[in-house]
Amino acid sequence: MQRVRRARTKPELLFEELARALGYRFRRNVQSLQGSPDFANKRRRKVVFVHGCFWHYHQQCGRGRIPRRNRGFWESKLLSNVERDRRKVRELREAGYDVLVVWECEIRSSAALRRKVRKFWERPSRG
Ligand SMILES: [Zn+2]
Repeated sequence: MQRVRRARTKPELLFEELARALGYRFRRNVQSLQGSPDFANKRRRKVVFVHGCFWHYHQQCGRGRIPRRNRGFWESKLLSNVERDRRKVRELREAGYDVLVVWECEIRSSAALRRKVRKFWERPSRG
């Protein structure tokens, strides 16, 4: 996780490009917010996490699965990542932020993702 967090991964770059093309402004790696979201716009109270499917255990796609080797290790590792992700989303929502999770596997279908991001950006945040 640490390793993944620090580097700017390719899906993040692609998301950034897409957001910029739509004219939406986000700050990157916002450490001043709980959970240090990958992208945030504090004024609009929007935060975005871009999750790698393996590390964040995306069970809806083929990449989110537990390796057979060292199964016990990976299982507890990946499940604790999922737990932490849930906690971050919950905390940010409680603080009045609207949270969007973008999966690595969604980045490819840019038309669908564009629709999703536009909807997210335009819906009112509670905060
Ligand atoms: Zn996925």
